[in-house]
Amino acid sequence: MECPYCKQEMERGYIQCRDGITWTPKKQPVKALSFLAKGAVSLCNDGTTSSSTVIAYHCKNCKLVLISYQDA
Ligand SMILES: [Zn+2]
Repeated sequence: MECPYCKQEMERGYIQCRDGITWTPKKQPVKALSFLAKGAVSLCNDGTTSSSTVIAYHCKNCKLVLISYQDA
C-alpha cells in the first residue's frame, strides 16, 4: 500500500489487542469494553467478524499507521 501523504510504500504488519481493536467516537475508560460503546466500529480485516488482530500499514517517514476495515 502506498502512503497517502509521502507516496512511499508502506510496511504491512499487525496491531493486536486482547479485547479486539475498536474505533470509538468518544474516549472510553481503559477497563471498559470499547466494542460495546455507542458508535463503535470494530476494526476487523482478517475475514472474521471479531478479532484481536488487524492488518495495518505503517509509514516510517510520516509516523502513520493505516487500518482498512471490513463491515461485519
Ligand atoms: Zn508517508
